Amino acid sequence: MRYVSTRGRAPELSFDDVLLAGLATDGGLYMPQHWPNFTHNDIRALRGLTYQDLAVQVMGPFVAGSLTDDELTEVVETAYADFSHPAIAPLTQLGTDDWIMELFHGPTLAFKDYALKVVGGLFDVVLKRSGKRITVVGATSGDTGSAAIEACRDRDAVDIVILMPKGRVSEVQRRQMTTVASTNVHAVEVDGTFDDCQDLVKALFNDAAFRAEVNLSAVNSINWARIMAQIVYYFWAALRLGSPDRPMSFAVPTGNFGNVMAGYCAKKMGLPIDRLVVGSNSNDILTRFLESGTMEKKGVTQTHSPSMDIQISSNFERLLFEKLGRDGAEVERLMNRFAQSGSYDVPSDLLNEILGLFRGFSLDDAGTEQMMAEIYRTTGLVLDPHSAIGVAAAEEAGHRDQGTPMVSLATAHPAKFGAVVEKATGVTPALPPHLADLMTRPERSVSVANDLEAVKALVRERSRVVGA
Ligand SMILES: *Cc1c(COP(=O)(O)O)cnc(C)c1O
Repeated sequence: MRYVSTRGRAPELSFDDVLLAGLATDGGLYMPQHWPNFTHNDIRALRGLTYQDLAVQVMGPFVAGSLTDDELTEVVETAYADFSHPAIAPLTQLGTDDWIMELFHGPTLAFKDYALKVVGGLFDVVLKRSGKRITVVGATSGDTGSAAIEACRDRDAVDIVILMPKGRVSEVQRRQMTTVASTNVHAVEVDGTFDDCQDLVKALFNDAAFRAEVNLSAVNSINWARIMAQIVYYFWAALRLGSPDRPMSFAVPTGNFGNVMAGYCAKKMGLPIDRLVVGSNSNDILTRFLESGTMEKKGVTQTHSPSMDIQISSNFERLLFEKLGRDGAEVERLMNRFAQSGSYDVPSDLLNEILGLFRGFSLDDAGTEQMMAEIYRTTGLVLDPHSAIGVAAAEEAGHRDQGTPMVSLATAHPAKFGAVVEKATGVTPALPPHLADLMTRPERSVSVANDLEAVKALVRERSRVVGA
């Protein structure tokens, strides 16, 4: 499979190169040159597979020419070996046609594990083959950092440096990063905010000489390989609920639009999906877009669902590319306008086409607490705030025609957001056994000033690329 940039000017790349590049050189995001097609008979033939075997079938066409079947199988088996539920992504029934897919059984208890564990294994295969090393650097306000660390820990060809804002990350989230006893993992507390951390990382990537010196790489959600690995669980849920012989709908708590974009990709591959409902918190840029056709940036508000506190949904560019008939020049024009003025509009026929599949719904913190309480009262299920927004979105914006099953994606374990969960439901969720002693494990982290040269020096010192 070859990959093209959403802005049309970067060179086409193979899967290996897309994996390591992340962003395209023209500022665009990589997309497969064509969609693998699964007929209804092909989909029927996937029934009964384990999650791992299904993952190999769904991802196979995307890595064709870069990985052998054996290599992909090995990556997948290793990625999910330490997940705590045998089904990997179990479904729980909420009502007649209402389901929850639990995507929090990975090592760091958020859905990001499902893709990042695969990405880490893919890095290993591709780097071993080329004899190269990379330095992964990222900024985190919580979930991404720990999932990236778990994905990269103990890998020979990878060093990982994660910047987090000192004192502004929850205790559980910080400890998930600082208690990892692997010599290639560097959790760094920056004297600053999350935005400062992000600016530092951007500045490192914009410094071409430094980028080359340490072979800088990223694992943020614009990496195609993450989207690819997330497509699998849409097939998984749909197959369990009668696909392809009846359509499904999904409700997805959304920030960067990566998770729900994977649902769209599943549909492009032939999975019959009726509706994708995008759930947001008060940072409702996507809901406002779906109401008005105007994508308009506002300031970020802190909410109970911090992993969705974002002002720009980067992966939306991928949907635009598809909906604009893969016209890279037009995507670039809209993205440039957004960068300059903070907003862009799409014509009403394009918006209507998007509304043929997508719906948006947003919920503030008070509503989220009410939803968590209501779900607990009516079903006994304790959900984290992100997942509760997904269920609310399913109820409010989903439709109920012809018994179409609606699957809400539960993206984090309630114990990750214990304080809010307790406030809303009165229940104190326990950490699962593999993290039960998290609060007493020894921490290991370094502090650094909010200063680019200081961060560069630290990365140079920790990266095994330098001097190798
Ligand atoms: C990252 C994250 C999201 C948002 O996912 P996107 O792919 O950015 O839309 C939702 N919930 C949780 C718990 C997350 O960690």
